[in-house]
Parts: sequence; structure tokens; C-alpha cells
Amino acid sequence: AISVRGVWVEFGDQIVIENLNLDIASGSFVSVVGPSGCGKSTFLRLVLGQDRPTRGALLLDGRPLPDEPDADRGVVFQRYSVFPHLTVLGNVLAAYELGQSRFAARLFGAKRRAAIEQADELIASVGLAPHRAKYPSALSGGMQQRLAIAQALAKNPKVLLLDEPFGALDPGTRAQMHALLKPLWARLGMTVIMVTHDLKEAFGLGTRVIAFDKTRHDPQAPGRFGARVTYDLDLTRDGPVPV
Ligand code: ATP
Ligand code: MG
Repeated sequence: AISVRGVWVEFGDQIVIENLNLDIASGSFVSVVGPSGCGKSTFLRLVLGQDRPTRGALLLDGRPLPDEPDADRGVVFQRYSVFPHLTVLGNVLAAYELGQSRFAARLFGAKRRAAIEQADELIASVGLAPHRAKYPSALSGGMQQRLAIAQALAKNPKVLLLDEPFGALDPGTRAQMHALLKPLWARLGMTVIMVTHDLKEAFGLGTRVIAFDKTRHDPQAPGRFGARVTYDLDLTRDGPVPV
């Protein structure tokens, strides 16, 4: 579980996140929605350990979240972030090795063969088996995004963070990605936090939808109030919500 306790994020005198308190159950799929600039990516970066709260604390399974990104947390951004100089297999293998050891040590012998087997399984599960030897430049945007997801999963993270992961894709490819992600999440049992501007995606994939907004605005000091949660729907309890 992830606990967010009284978290504030301030940049200079601008408050971005204001006293955020959340408990995210392990294995849940949380969609985060809200207008541009309300602090969604900042929230993901907090969970990722890239940003630090100016006040408050974040806990993963009761322990403070390490400040540095680690194997417990996988991340996929809107635009693919794969290694251009590695093949599909090479990309997934590198992430797998990172998941096995903090220092991304190369694996050899039987361990390497097992790693390749695992990597190939993941590559197949995102539908890239026929492309395993290709370089990212030879893949379409949707394929690169699937590779980014396979790479994030290869670390076997407890928490998968998705920041508008399908924002750059056409509707058909998005639908394919949805059909891929939901069963993967169900099978792997990890916690997913996904930021999206697409409400259909948010409600279709999430077990919980959290909306951030800057509900109050002070024209004299635009940064005076930060984002707060304006709604928080548990879809497993509240039932499906028509969109
Ligand atoms: P979008 O939907 O457009 O991606 P967002 O909800 O992800 O928006 P954030 O990127 O989290 O929004 O930004 C929230 C606010 O924090 C913005 O006003 C932004 O200018 C500010 N901000 C984010 N990072 C920094 C930084 N490093 N320094 C100063 N201000 C920052
Ligand atoms: Mg953002």
C-alpha cells in the first residue's frame, strides 16, 4: 500500500500540492484526472521519488519511499522512453537486469538464459514477439509504447506509474493498449497509478478515480493555493459510473 501523509509541494512561493492525504491499496488501479497544470505529474514524480515533498511523507508498505527511483517503481511516460541503441529484447533485458540488482549487473550463463526467457515472455505478452530483434526506430509509436510498458514491467515493480501513457496514440491503438493493460494488471497484481485526460480510459481501466483540481484561486497570488482532491471514487464499491 502507498500512504500519502500531509504532503505539500511548493516551488518557491507557488504551492502545487496542498496537504494531500491518500491511501492507495496494493493491487488497485488508480486513475488520476484533472486539468492541465493541477499537479498530476508532480504527484507521480513524488511517488517515483523524483520530486520530494516540501512537507509530509510518502510510505510504501509502511516504509518511507526511497528518494531515488528503484526497482519497486516502474514508470511509463506519454512519449516512449526506451533505449534507441538497444533492440526490443535488449531493452527489456536491461530493465530485467535492473530489477534483479540495483546496479544493473549483466547476467551470465543460466541466469542470462532465464532472463531472456522472462524477457521474451513479457515481449510476447505485449504483442511484440515478431519484433524482438528490431531497434525502436523501426517500430511504430504504439509498438514503442508497448515496449516501454514491457520494460517497466520487466523490473517486476510493486507500483507501475503511467503518465498519460497513451496520449500520443490514435484511438484504435489506444483501444488495443487498454485491452492489453487491464489483463496484464489483473495477472501481475501490481498497483497502478495512471494519469490521463481521457475520462473513458480513467473509468474503464481504473478501480478508483481521483480528480485533482485547484479549487480555489487567488487572483492576487495565483500560486497561493495548491491542488486538492475534488473527488475520489472507489469503483469497486460505488459501482460503475456512466461517462
Ligand atoms: P498536465 O496535465 O498539463 O500534464 P499536470 O497536472 O501534470 O499538468 P504538473 O506538471 O504536475 O501538472 O505541474 C503542476 C504545477 O507545478 C504547474 O503549475 C507547474 O508549473 C508547476 N511545476 C511543476 N514542476 C515544477 C518545477 N520543477 N519548478 C517550478 N514549478 C513547477
Ligand atoms: Mg502532466
